[in-house]
Amino acid sequence: MQLDSQEDTQTHFMKILTRISNFGSLGLIAAGLCHPASGVAAGTTPDKPNYSTNSADREACQSQLNKIYGAIQEFQRRNQRLPMWLSDLTPEYINDRDLLVCPYVRESGNIKKWREQFNKVPVFGDSGSCTYAYEFCTEVIPTLPDVTCRDYKERQMGLMGFSVPIVRCFAHRPVLNLAFDGNIYESPSEWEDNFVKSPADEMLFHAVPKQQGDESQNQDVLKVIQPRNAETDARILDLSNRYNALLLHLSQMDGAGGLLVTYPEGVQRIGGIEFDIRGLIHLTGKDFPIAFPERVDDIVVNQRCSHIHFLHGAMCSAPEGSTIASYLVHQRGGYTKVPIVYGKDVKTRWFDFRQQTELDNPKVAWASPPNCIGTTGKSLRLYHTTWSNPSPDVAVQSIGFVSHLTDSAPFLVAITLE
Ligand SMILES: [Zn+2]
Repeated sequence: MQLDSQEDTQTHFMKILTRISNFGSLGLIAAGLCHPASGVAAGTTPDKPNYSTNSADREACQSQLNKIYGAIQEFQRRNQRLPMWLSDLTPEYINDRDLLVCPYVRESGNIKKWREQFNKVPVFGDSGSCTYAYEFCTEVIPTLPDVTCRDYKERQMGLMGFSVPIVRCFAHRPVLNLAFDGNIYESPSEWEDNFVKSPADEMLFHAVPKQQGDESQNQDVLKVIQPRNAETDARILDLSNRYNALLLHLSQMDGAGGLLVTYPEGVQRIGGIEFDIRGLIHLTGKDFPIAFPERVDDIVVNQRCSHIHFLHGAMCSAPEGSTIASYLVHQRGGYTKVPIVYGKDVKTRWFDFRQQTELDNPKVAWASPPNCIGTTGKSLRLYHTTWSNPSPDVAVQSIGFVSHLTDSAPFLVAITLE
């Protein structure tokens, strides 16, 4: 659904209410109330459009959003946390307070009046004269007394990755979103719609439930992961019951809000080995912003093999030579530790495709085609590590995956036995 000049905010609000009653979801009610359009409907009705569709206005706002992102990063680096409000960034991280006012709103009239239309919406609660929605504020969601807007966004980030917006500007249609990873993209008023490809996605992305541990996360993830092809060879391991993250964590948005699906899905032959690629087992790292587990045990194998092939990668870089994770290969009588070394086995998932040497050491197993990330110059890469089993006649019972909590957070895409 996209708000445009033909659709008034009242209609939009009615659509949200219809979706809430259809799905009966608390999370969706929260999303609706967090949504500025509900503030518009409940408050004043502007007598003229209060947003711009002009590309020059959008570019001017993007330039400010880039500066705000830099200030948020610096705040986080120095304080080890996000600001409570964007106005906390002034004056130390942002000199000019005008930077927190969209240029379109500043030029088109009364900032106070523009803010009044959102006065019931938690993400607009900044006491300064900020016109941006701060999605990671710590205001409680009125209908969910124990849940703050930040809690809810962190849940969404666990599921959908770092494209979740941290700051939004509703003075434009489409709406402008500054993602947690710094990308800026356009979206309808509900940014989640950019991610939706199926009714199951629609349900989950708009109403992300609270995680009650690894298993409930696995259940949520499985709701939207395609089922494994029943004919897949058992030596291509089925990781379904250990997935805790969607492949969306490997995606990015382009500027127009198109989801760049850059990875191969389903059973794929990579480096001569077939892998079943449908989800991720993602572990955390040191100060990683998403609450992934430190370890995932009991990846069931119960087969003999001469080699184990791991298709994997990492988020964020670590010093070359540091062990960022280990696989624990359990056989009768004990286990063997297989270290994953940064710079030898894996490197961070994104690289500049113009730097061809980035494909060499360690050797990349698969990379997204050049230019597919548009102007950012970035490509995605996955790595393949092979472990030779010194006891091929003894069945491997299970595999554990353990993070060493470095700056780099490891993820496992697939395992195949040989
Ligand atoms: Zn703006």
